[in-house]
Amino acid sequence: MDCIFCRIAAGEIPADVIYTDEEVIAFRDINPQAPVHVLIIPGEHIASLAELPEEKSVLVGHMVDVANRLARSEGISESGYRVVMNCGRQGGQDVLHLHMHLVGGRQLAGSFG
Ligand code: AMP
Repeated sequence: MDCIFCRIAAGEIPADVIYTDEEVIAFRDINPQAPVHVLIIPGEHIASLAELPEEKSVLVGHMVDVANRLARSEGISESGYRVVMNCGRQGGQDVLHLHMHLVGGRQLAGSFG
């Protein structure tokens, strides 16, 4: 399978990785939409939220914990931030490997574009 985020997770292509643990990797988005724009992905390939088995839903809670932790270390915890998971084509998902966007560092506009 040719998945760009699997290749980042495997260290096969470069990324600005700022956090890793046994379950997830976080790296800066290549096309940032705000001063802070980080992607948090599971190491395991899961295509989207729609493909997440119920028994693995705890993984998303862990991704939220990591997003909160990174919001603190990036200095946007107090000012505020947005956590987004796009799912499927109409949900705006371009990369078919589950990921959470952590976005902040500027005033963000309405959520449902
Ligand atoms: P989505 O539209 O939710 O699938 O978001 C995919 C995100 O991945 C976009 O914000 C892209 O800018 C980002 N992206 C794509 N390729 C890379 C890459 N090689 N390194 C970092 N971010 C990437």
